[in-house]
Formats: sequence, C-alpha cells, structure tokens
Amino acid sequence: MNRKADGCALVTGASRGIGAAIARTLAADSWLVAVNYRSDSEGAERVVGEIEAAGGRAFAQQADVAEPSAADELFTDLEERAGPVLVLVNNAGVRADGLSPQLDDESWNRVLETNLSAAFRTTRRALRSMMRERFGRVVNIASIVGQRANPGQANYAASKAGLIAFTHTVAAEVARRSITVNAVAPGLVETEMTEGIGDEMLRAIPARRAGTPEEVAACVRFLVSEEASYVNGTTLTVDGGMTA
Ligand code: NAP
Repeated sequence: MNRKADGCALVTGASRGIGAAIARTLAADSWLVAVNYRSDSEGAERVVGEIEAAGGRAFAQQADVAEPSAADELFTDLEERAGPVLVLVNNAGVRADGLSPQLDDESWNRVLETNLSAAFRTTRRALRSMMRERFGRVVNIASIVGQRANPGQANYAASKAGLIAFTHTVAAEVARRSITVNAVAPGLVETEMTEGIGDEMLRAIPARRAGTPEEVAACVRFLVSEEASYVNGTTLTVDGGMTA
C-alpha cells in the first residue's frame, strides 16, 4: 500500500497547543491528519483550515479519549473515512495539580484516565492495523515530569512516568513488525496548559526560555519519518537543557 495515500495519522488533543503543531507538521509531510478534540470544535476546525490553506489534508474528529469506549468508536469511524491509522500521536493531556495530601480521587483518576489509560486504549486499537500493514509509528507525548520530581503534580507525574514505561514495553513487543513506539518528553512549552508560569521556572531552564509547540512537533516529525525506522522504545527529551 501507499501509506500516505491509503492510510492516515491521528493526533489526539490537536485543537490547540502542541497537538495542533504536530498535526500541521505531519500534514506538511503529506499525511492525511485526523485532528482529534474533546470540546474545542472551533479550535480543531481552525487547525484543519490552516492545514488545508497550506495545501495539506486534514479533518476534525471529535472524541473524548478518556471515555473507555472512545478508542473503538473513533478508530472504526477513521478507518471508514480515511483508511488504517498508521501514525498515532497520543498527545491529549490534562493536569489537575495539588499536593499529594490534598489530591482527591477525581483529580487522580481524571489525569490518569486521560494521560495514560486513553493512550493504552488507542495504542491497543491502532496496533491491529499496524501489525497487518507491518508498519506503524506511535509517539506518546510524555513530560520531563515523568522522569523527575515536580511538587504538586504527583498525579500528572505518575501518568507520564507510566506512559514512558508503557512506551518501552510496547516497543519491544511490536518491533519485529516494523512498528516503532517512542515517547517525546517536553520540558516547559508555551501553551494554554502552562499559561501564567512565572519567571522563576524560566530561570531553571539553561536555554532561559520556554520551548515552542513547533519545537516539540519537529521531534515527532523525526520519530514518524522513514529515517527513524531503527529508533524504537526511546524517550526524546526536548527541554532546553533543563534535565541535562
Ligand atoms: P493544551 O494546550 O491544554 O491542549 C490540550 C489538548 O488536549 C486540547 O486540544 C484538548 O482539547 C485536548 N484534550 C484534553 N483532554 C482530552 C480528551 N479527554 N480527549 C480528547 N482531547 C483532549 O495542552 P498542551 O500544552 O498543548 O499539551 C499537549 C500534551 O503535551 C499534553 O499531553 C501535555 O501533558 C504534554 N506536555 C505539555 C507541556 C507544556 O509545557 N505545555 C510540557 C510537557 C508535556 P479540548 O480543549 O477540546 O478538550
């Protein structure tokens, strides 16, 4: 099969921020991109419009990936509309911060369901067609918080550490089918999620600035490319030297 003509790329949580930049970048590499969103249909349509204006192919696809039944429904729709999902970027993520003694079950579960369990369910579903096609790229958007302490984010840290561990093991399971599963771990990136984060944080970054969504998308672009066929089960950190 001609992968880019007959298959598609799914980016979860692509209505703004890092996911939107990833969608634009994969479309610029000729992938037909499903721009997933939960509630921000306007944002998703804007991203689709930008992609089409640049000569690319994309469509918006609503699904709350934290819903246990979402992955099956989403993939069935996508397969009918755009063919097999050959590239999956698990980007949808939320935070609900609080120090551990005060973290309630709802904040714990919401973050774990969205950032980790949803990625498990979409990956499990995507691997079906990837294994059939003997090609696939899964990229999980983790965080440096999955690798080092960040007080007030025990739930978020656990979700991202889990996502990194999940990435490594699934990569080892499917590598012989020419499928790669990697993670990208951004540091501080300027998006709605990090609005209001002060100068103190910036001083901790050797680059002395936040990253841009496009700088994260460039890492994803590499991991999805043919050139990255032998890069598997790794975590690519993009943090301006913060964890160096
Ligand atoms: P953002 O600006 O808050 O955007 C989050 C996106 O995820 C939105 O499009 C949102 O769509 C979508 N989303 C949230 N829950 C969803 C769900 N249940 N189903 C489907 N879509 C959902 O966040 P961001 O900063 O771009 O972050 C993107 C990813 O990078 C996240 O996984 C985040 O943890 C990770 N990350 C970010 C940073 C940073 O500094 N910004 C650093 C490290 C890692 P709706 O508005 O429609 O809900």
